[in-house]
Amino acid sequence: MKQVPFFDYTQIYKQDYPVYKNALDSVLQRADFILRSDLEDFELKMAQFVGSKFCIGVGNGTDAIWLSLIAAGVERGDEVIIPTHTYVATADAVWAIGAVPVLVDILDDHSISPAAISDAINPRTKAVIAVNLNGRACNLVEIKRICDENQISLIEDNAQGVGSSINGKSSGTFGIAASLSFYPAKILGGLGDGGGILTNDESIFEKIFRLRSHGRDRDNLVVEWGFNSRLDNLQAAVLNAKLEHLSIDISRRRAVAKVYDSLLGDCLNIVLPEFVEDESIRFDSFQNYEIEAQDRDELRKYLTANGVGTIVQWGGKMVHEFGLPGVAVRDVTNADRIVKRMLLLPMNQYLSESDAEYVAEKILSFYAGTK
Ligand SMILES: *Cc1c(COP(=O)(O)O)cnc(C)c1O
Repeated sequence: MKQVPFFDYTQIYKQDYPVYKNALDSVLQRADFILRSDLEDFELKMAQFVGSKFCIGVGNGTDAIWLSLIAAGVERGDEVIIPTHTYVATADAVWAIGAVPVLVDILDDHSISPAAISDAINPRTKAVIAVNLNGRACNLVEIKRICDENQISLIEDNAQGVGSSINGKSSGTFGIAASLSFYPAKILGGLGDGGGILTNDESIFEKIFRLRSHGRDRDNLVVEWGFNSRLDNLQAAVLNAKLEHLSIDISRRRAVAKVYDSLLGDCLNIVLPEFVEDESIRFDSFQNYEIEAQDRDELRKYLTANGVGTIVQWGGKMVHEFGLPGVAVRDVTNADRIVKRMLLLPMNQYLSESDAEYVAEKILSFYAGTK
């Protein structure tokens, strides 16, 4: 029986090690570990890739959101609107400041609802975090308009959005800052934890530059309170190497999505993420391929028995279901519907098209048998 694991981490070594080896050797020989040239190179190249003025490396994607919120001036007691369909990290970052995560509903494409944002805004609202989930940009044009109209900050959680764009404009460039995560399973994954922040605003960039390393300025003088949240130079060297083939990795993900789309598009028991052909309207990078499935749990069991690994995101609970104290929950009717049906199919750059064909075949045979 064919095996299509959800994400085979051993492929990182098998397929990418030759790419990383030189980078690792070079950093070790130079003993360049903290805040060194590979990090600066990476920050420049990453900013260029996205089309953002600045990129700054930090410890991980959660810190990236937290530091962006601080730089945006969000304080204890302020409200920050986030979608409930996100990694708990988005809410953690708000909580870490003592601000209130306000959880709102999602659209049928699983991204935050602009109308729900509008409904939740009140005088205590300080910021919105738009999460570009599954490698798909939210309706950032509309969300930006709402934020501007209400004079609140837009921050993008772009941990899953790297490489995506809407109307030809990259995700991560709409708000005052955007977070990145280099967790190994992310589109641009490192060999451990890592994160970054994109911004076009020089004062935000300078603020985060100081915050990430003990409040020190460019002359290494402590000029304000800060923390330690730096992207390791070694990780940056690896990410530099990987950035070289990021566009190819994304096109491979899109090829897998295309197979799912053509083989499963007519199946009435599932709902697929829309595949938009016109790249100037929408370009999805498919961090994940999240479908909605009838009899989801039975389908999952059937796929597991047939060697296909799947995941229900966030362990099958959205943020409003964790019972965490200090959150405010708005109407999340659509999220409550989707959470019972959502399922991630295998999706990454290591999959072949025949792997995707096998997955699709098994899904079709499952529904053929239960009809
Ligand atoms: C991965 C992820 C994060 C957090 O990133 P870490 O680097 O693991 O801290 C935040 N938000 C979303 C949507 C993510 O998928």
